Amino acid sequence: MISLGEAIQHSIDAAFFLTDTEKIYFTDSLNRILAEDIIADIDIPSFNKSAMDGYALRKEDINHPLTILQVVQAGDNPIRELPPQHCVKIMTGARIPDNANYVAKIEDTYIDENGFVRIKHIENKSNIRFKAEDTKKGDVILNKGCLIRAQEIATLATLGKTVVSVHQTPTVSIASTGNELVEPHNIPTDYQIRNSNAYQIIAQCLQMKINPLYDGIIPDNETITSEQIQQLTEKSDVVILTGGVSMGDFDFIPHAIRKIGFDIIFQSIAVQPGKPTLMAQKDKKTIFGLPGNPVSSFLQFELIVKPFLFKLMGHNYRPIELYLPLAQTYHRKKAERTSLVPVKIHDRSVIPVEYHGSAHLFSLNDASGFIIIPSGITSIESGTYVNVRLFSS
Ligand code: AMP
Ligand code: MG
Repeated sequence: MISLGEAIQHSIDAAFFLTDTEKIYFTDSLNRILAEDIIADIDIPSFNKSAMDGYALRKEDINHPLTILQVVQAGDNPIRELPPQHCVKIMTGARIPDNANYVAKIEDTYIDENGFVRIKHIENKSNIRFKAEDTKKGDVILNKGCLIRAQEIATLATLGKTVVSVHQTPTVSIASTGNELVEPHNIPTDYQIRNSNAYQIIAQCLQMKINPLYDGIIPDNETITSEQIQQLTEKSDVVILTGGVSMGDFDFIPHAIRKIGFDIIFQSIAVQPGKPTLMAQKDKKTIFGLPGNPVSSFLQFELIVKPFLFKLMGHNYRPIELYLPLAQTYHRKKAERTSLVPVKIHDRSVIPVEYHGSAHLFSLNDASGFIIIPSGITSIESGTYVNVRLFSS
């Protein structure tokens, strides 16, 4: 049995190669991983522009009555040279005349009885967004390995980067194991349950923009298990299985995996829930055997599988964590293993959700994340600050 930290490190180390890259249209790149640095093809802003609706003028004219020469709308090409004691009425985003160095915002001005613009309040900022003040042509704006979110899509649009190189998503096959399982559209008999793990893992992959193949339920039969896993490893880079990893008479996964020549990197983690978690590898093919209990398989995917899949695509996954106080004292009886405790956040403090154990799938519906309690610790006082690792959305 290894520690959770060791298991996470083994998983990251096992992602020793990168998937190939492909070029896609930028609007399709949401949640993909960038495979090239993105370099500014222009200065941003690319011209001196007004940050306000107001009047663009030469600062030396500020105490004079000013004649309005033009009304300049965003997108207009303005006069380049303001004569003395003149200004242009200007809108936010419009280019200012080259010799204007101040924009008086409209609220700070009035029109006098002779029709001249007068400035009644002078600010100590110019209200001008100067050419290249954000970014210079040639600057690296996004680094390869970054996860493309909505704001990166906007960045790509601004830089005219309409075709972008991203890492291919690994091919992933998912299968459940267990004679007790039926698919969700069935009504289980009084000795069966519905298969939830496969659909949860499919959804966790889809959140990462990985479109997995689903291969159904593998019965608890030793020969069939190794044959089917063999087939899955032939068609996919990564195989994710659930159930059949622990100590029962019909938990055939570790044996089946060895039989088809894979090296087991670990098969038991000192963590609760999630002890029977397995990882195996043969060349560039990887198998994860996640626990059958749904809370365990969910959390072990987040902790062990997700960083591995991201690293294959060149991304160094950093989950979002919040550092907040516990709303109530937490106790547990046994402390040999690290514990994962599903929690919600209310009034900026952390409340463990009702949780009956690793089979209690619905506990996760109330949870916004989980806390990790190290082995050896049986209680944490109310008010103690803890790290909450948020679930992805
Ligand atoms: P196992 O690891 O195969 O012994 O399974 C542990 C527990 O998880 C058992 O109660 C199983 O019935 C349950 N389980 C296994 N696979 C699934 C699944 N795909 N969906 C929901 N529960 C499961
Ligand atoms: Mg089973």
